[in-house]
Amino acid sequence: MSMDDCLFCKIINKEVDSEIVHEDEICVAFNDINPKARVHLLIVPRKHIAKISNIEEGDEKIMGHLIKIAKDLAERFECKGYQLLFNVGREAGQIIFHVHLHLMGN
Ligand code: AMP
Ligand code: ZN
Repeated sequence: MSMDDCLFCKIINKEVDSEIVHEDEICVAFNDINPKARVHLLIVPRKHIAKISNIEEGDEKIMGHLIKIAKDLAERFECKGYQLLFNVGREAGQIIFHVHLHLMGN
């Protein structure tokens, strides 16, 4: 899937509505439309990377930033505990081919 028909690029560009809870120069975070936990956020890099297996040299800063923001959001939403998850590839259940970190907290 290219950037042009990518749902998460459209959310980042505000062409599709979502409930955004955080944005900065590197990433955007919004509520998952089908929450699997009390708090279920998706933390998405502005850079269109289809899946973790496509990350390149130089993407370390972006990927580290996603985890830092997940930690900040878990605190802000008062999660007692939480899971951080990347699905990588269709066979693992990835359905949106733009990298996203799931934060699922209770
Ligand atoms: P994955 O299976 O890792 O690709 O996860 C994709 C996630 O995106 C699922 O948890 C969906 O519920 C979520 N999702 C799909 N469409 C939207 C949308 N328009 N806004 C917010 N979350 C969405
Ligand atoms: Zn995209």
